[in-house]
Amino acid sequence: MAARIPLIAGNWKMYKTNPEAVESAGRLVELVADTDGVEIMIAPVFTALEPVSKVVQQSRVELGAQNLYWEKEGAYTGEISADMLVSAGCRYVIIGHSERRQYFGETDETVNRKISAALAADLIPVFCVGETESERDSGKTFSVLDKQVKDGLKSRVVDELGTLVIAYEPVWAIGTGKTATSEQAQEAHQYIRSLINDKFSAALAESVRILYGGSVKPANVTELMAMPDIDGALVGGASLDPESFSQIVKF
Ligand code: PEP
Repeated sequence: MAARIPLIAGNWKMYKTNPEAVESAGRLVELVADTDGVEIMIAPVFTALEPVSKVVQQSRVELGAQNLYWEKEGAYTGEISADMLVSAGCRYVIIGHSERRQYFGETDETVNRKISAALAADLIPVFCVGETESERDSGKTFSVLDKQVKDGLKSRVVDELGTLVIAYEPVWAIGTGKTATSEQAQEAHQYIRSLINDKFSAALAESVRILYGGSVKPANVTELMAMPDIDGALVGGASLDPESFSQIVKF
């Protein structure tokens, strides 16, 4: 069984104008040029995708988007399709981020449609799941993950999911400076892997990459990455600075 190649992904959220994004991406390309054995992705805002794609071409850095809409085209003002992301140079797309669930009404059902659209366009979905603080405190972490994973991947079949990436992002750890302990993260990752095993196959459970997200920084990435079921990181705040993101890439 081939080892899972770590993926370090940067979610730039709604930060950086086009000149800022181009400058940061260019600096990152230089800083990670000599890395090996790790895949690197950055997800700028939609309007910066095309200019950033030119900067990262032929580099160690790949491009992702932060969202998509499931229809191919049509009268859906303000939305963007999977094919449009591909045409702007994207290889990945983040789907179901907790900020989208919290502020923009994303549900497990819309996440499911988006994952399907991404896969149909050969985009790699980075499918985000994770419990809130009150859900954790009331002992519901596993049942929340169970529902998010099962409903998000409903109607998918194992053969479609070879590229799937899952990001476990406890909502209470995103942008708060509170990181899950490596044991808490490992426990959740192991649980998600067992869900993939039960719902799909042992082979997919073994190969699927599960990233941890939630206040990852250079100071805590090494410990997290030492856990057997943590295959990378989805990084928000600390990905905005190319120097700190490159240190995370070099965990
Ligand atoms: C994120 O946006 O996915 C994230 C994990 O943010 P932060 O690293 O800032 O907690």
